[in-house]
Amino acid sequence: MELQTLTIVDARKMLDTGEVTAVELAEEYVAAAREMNTQLNAYLEIFEDVHEQAQKADEMIAAGNIFPMTGIPIAIKDNILIKGRVSSGASKILENYVATYDAYVIEKLKAEGAVFLGRTNMDEFAMGGSTENSAFGPTKNPHDIARIPGGSSGGSAAVVAAHMALASLGTDTGGSIRQPAALCGVVGFKPTYGAVSRFGTMAMGSSLDQIGPITKTVTDAELLFGTIRGHDSRDATSRPDAYFSESQQGKRIGVPRHFLKEGTDEDVLEAFNESLKKLEAHGYEIVDIELPNIQYALATYYIIMPAEVSTNLARYDGIRYGVHHDGETLLGDYMQTRGKGFGAEARRRILLGTFVLSSGYVDAYYRKATAVRNQLKKEFEKVFAGVDFIVTPTSPTPAFKIGEKVNDPVAMYAADIFTVPVNMTGVPALSVPMGTVVRDGSTLPIGIQFIAKHGADTALFAIGKDFEKMK
Ligand code: GLN
Repeated sequence: MELQTLTIVDARKMLDTGEVTAVELAEEYVAAAREMNTQLNAYLEIFEDVHEQAQKADEMIAAGNIFPMTGIPIAIKDNILIKGRVSSGASKILENYVATYDAYVIEKLKAEGAVFLGRTNMDEFAMGGSTENSAFGPTKNPHDIARIPGGSSGGSAAVVAAHMALASLGTDTGGSIRQPAALCGVVGFKPTYGAVSRFGTMAMGSSLDQIGPITKTVTDAELLFGTIRGHDSRDATSRPDAYFSESQQGKRIGVPRHFLKEGTDEDVLEAFNESLKKLEAHGYEIVDIELPNIQYALATYYIIMPAEVSTNLARYDGIRYGVHHDGETLLGDYMQTRGKGFGAEARRRILLGTFVLSSGYVDAYYRKATAVRNQLKKEFEKVFAGVDFIVTPTSPTPAFKIGEKVNDPVAMYAADIFTVPVNMTGVPALSVPMGTVVRDGSTLPIGIQFIAKHGADTALFAIGKDFEKMK
């Protein structure tokens, strides 16, 4: 089987016609995953029961009980709970934590008979942009193993790029699906906030987090999204299905040119401009737009997100979940457990978040940032009254070297410049490969980001599929 070019669409046909069984397909992927993983460290665990799962899928297919994901082998980011399996969030503090229930997206996938291959590596609790913050070692970029795969869903992007899974799920709080997808040369989709239930996913920044697909093609992302979306009363921010009604497909694209120059590599900008020309040649209209406060999105994200992180991580106290370290007193237990359990980036964000929420500083930082966020939402709404899409590069640079930015958190945060405004405003965005650039002799993929208005997720698939076909 040609795993290199296989898509969900192809696999579906082959499974349905009996050309291949789910067991055969799953076994090919497990073999590829085991072989490549020693080098890439993209999976934290490859499951032992893949064969049994695939057998069940084959039974469903034989009975004519077929859904888009029946028998499709996929990988799951390690912050999404699968009942009875370890779910660690790539943190030492949850190293031994076994999930007691399924996340909403897992329930949906199980109902369709999807085959879970394993859980993928990530930055601890999804905090990072390189997968170097994992407590279990970094993942390597399949295009150059001296480089990072992006993050925080670096494992989920690497397994798709290296054909160790047909598709995967990631989470995106500030770019963690789109940026690794771009840096690994695959497709990543961050749905509208509220399109996919967060039930059973480890919370990072609850007002920003969304689960979404990483795949080889836009059509595959659309299919997987179709399975995992839907209203869920257990997530209070879940939107009714009707909210996502088919939006009209327009062809007007806005480009915030004033914002693109800052820190973007010249050849990335060139490739981006070439992509705009292609879109224009295919009937899209390109106009300049102004988003006056977008340059503050990154700074305000790094106030709001840690504020939410500091409260969300408070639950890991050594008593409720996971690892426990004994101290002399109850407070000592907390301090021992959290001191040993959390990595440096988690601790940095807890400190930052606690600071911006503390009395005396909450007005100066957290409330100001919230006001800027609201302003940004208004600016996006205004722009979307005149255009159907906003387009930017996904990331200002290609994959950087492992270790290059670990001692400079601010430089690492700057990589999120184009992805963060999307989470701050809750809109959907899709990253699609837009060619390659060369660094030190390595050919490295880069991505283009299409952004649509709140609820217009389907419009993104339409433009994404169009763009994939453009030569
Ligand atoms: N890189 C960003 C951060 O470190 C985004 C993380 C994410 O989307 N989970 O916060």
